[in-house]
Amino acid sequence: MSDELRELYQEVILEHGKNPRNFHASDDATNEARGNNPLCGDQLVIYLKLDGDKRVVDASFLGKGCAISMASASMMTELLKGRSQDEAQSLFEAFHDMCTGEDNGHELPDDVEKLQVLSGVREFPTRVKCATLPWHTMVAALQGEDEISTE
Ligand code: ZN
Repeated sequence: MSDELRELYQEVILEHGKNPRNFHASDDATNEARGNNPLCGDQLVIYLKLDGDKRVVDASFLGKGCAISMASASMMTELLKGRSQDEAQSLFEAFHDMCTGEDNGHELPDDVEKLQVLSGVREFPTRVKCATLPWHTMVAALQGEDEISTE
């Protein structure tokens, strides 16, 4: 990754970290779960509202943590709206592969390319958990689990 690209990515992360989108609780969430990354101190709650066809009609979060976890949650909640439960699950798998550098054959769809800004975490193994925490928590919420921890 070039230094310029790295800098640009850094800026996007910091901007989302400072001004997270969809940063609020939800009164009418159908699914919610709490995520905890004790290594870094990131803690968040993901709120999802699914319609009768199991499509995400709303997604939001609350919590505190480093810029990477907040930016990741901010971008994730923006991208989830309008997607089916299956689509959300496969996005998680593609995002997870990108962050860990594993190749399990999942590719990020073109319309979520902006998640690439978080790909730099693969060079920092402890940061991978920060970036993937919101996603693990989202999957837990979809599966009806209340709580996950990265440990
Ligand atoms: Zn963190």
